[in-house]
Amino acid sequence: MVVGAGIVGAHIALELVRRGERVVLLDAGEPGHGCSFGNAGWLTPCFAMPLPAPGVFRQALRWCLDPASPLRVPPGLAFTQAPWLLRFALAATPARFEAGTRALTQLSLLSLQLYERFAHELAAAGDPGFGFTRAGLLMACETREGLNAAHEELRLAALQGVRGEALDAAALRAREPALRGPLEGGVYFPDEAHVQPLAAVHAAVREFVRLGGRLRTHERLTGFDTHAGAITHARTDREQLAARHAVGHVVLATGTWTRELGRAFGVRAPILGGKGYSMMAPALQPPLRSPVMLLERKVAVTPYTDTTRIAGTLELVAHDDGVSPRRVQAIIAAARRALPLPESAPLTPAWHGLRPCTPDGMPIIGRAPGFANLTLAAGHQMLGLQSAPGTAQLAADLVLGTKPVVDPAPFRADRF
Ligand SMILES: Cc1cc2nc3c(=O)[nH]c(=O)nc-3n(C[C@H](O)[C@H](O)[C@H](O)COP(=O)(O)OP(=O)(O)OC[C@H]3O[C@@H](n4cnc5c(N)ncnc54)[C@H](O)[C@@H]3O)c2cc1C
Repeated sequence: MVVGAGIVGAHIALELVRRGERVVLLDAGEPGHGCSFGNAGWLTPCFAMPLPAPGVFRQALRWCLDPASPLRVPPGLAFTQAPWLLRFALAATPARFEAGTRALTQLSLLSLQLYERFAHELAAAGDPGFGFTRAGLLMACETREGLNAAHEELRLAALQGVRGEALDAAALRAREPALRGPLEGGVYFPDEAHVQPLAAVHAAVREFVRLGGRLRTHERLTGFDTHAGAITHARTDREQLAARHAVGHVVLATGTWTRELGRAFGVRAPILGGKGYSMMAPALQPPLRSPVMLLERKVAVTPYTDTTRIAGTLELVAHDDGVSPRRVQAIIAAARRALPLPESAPLTPAWHGLRPCTPDGMPIIGRAPGFANLTLAAGHQMLGLQSAPGTAQLAADLVLGTKPVVDPAPFRADRF
């Protein structure tokens, strides 16, 4: 049983049926209606870094009094989540950041290859697919400080074998004629791709069902029956009558919910929410040629055929406390400043999602201590979409006991 039909669970379930397993994919709601619903849709190995980067804590402290800042650690968390924040601060060393970046880039590069192959397979079978497009990724900077940060990203990406080029202001405008306002320069990564995030979940689930997998929606996992350290049955809330499903192995791919769920079973998964927002706008005129990161405000803009997605901000939260209109307005204002997005352009209401954030910025992909047949696959922070197929390879290898193609060490579940 794979619990959680977000992008991570959907790909794990698909990989397991591809390998000939009988699999049930369970979700408390509809597939893809958690954090995977409205993300920016980026598959960008050039941005595969753990959140606790050297200096990020200082940056967050600087921003903590600005309610519209792109990164926010509310001061109240220092009281309620002190151990998590301490771990976060301790993880932000150059050595750990570099090792984490290496592992996440490899996972993202593998995933990008797997997405491309999957997109071709679906196209060959006449399936509508999930909007896989390789148009690269552009970072646009307004200030010299921003451009220095972009050059640092370029340097880090090059160390991992990801191609990119620095652009001066004129080259940036030539590369993306839709950009306006003050521009200092930018960086272009030509090999990056983007997709439609909800369609990506639906495509994986569709293929899973086509290959014989069983999907159960609107059914919440509530507990396990165990015998001699192994889970024998999963309990759910189906139709108020507690249902029991006999299981051979359980994979928890429940995003930010994994913390609470794990706690109920005695499994440690210290995951906080990294709240972010997105809105859909009409296609811009002139149309964007590739997704753009407005570096200083950390706003992600993704073009589709008829629409544009505008996404941003990361606010650490222990619980979902809804939409902050001020932060949403800050994202929209940044997009209007840099792009031809008129005041009159209709925007959809803001969607918000909680990125599942671990204190060391690395996902948890591994066998859960204390259980013979429980695997965790959660905590993918800002990278869950772009690392889902690679995560699925590793998770399937761990479930089946086959030699992992991905080094499991950086992702072990027993590190907390
Ligand atoms: C604004 C924003 C932009 C982003 N942009 C990108 C991007 O461009 N690229 C990228 O790679 N990532 C991006 N991310 C991050 C990405 O969205 C997440 O990392 C990813 O969606 C996490 O996927 P998941 O499958 O782990 O979790 P989720 O999608 O949250 O899925 C978890 C599922 O578990 C189910 N569930 C929970 N509890 C139970 C239970 N008890 N029983 C049954 N089911 C349960 C939920 O219903 C849900 O469907 C972005 C995030 C945000 C907020």
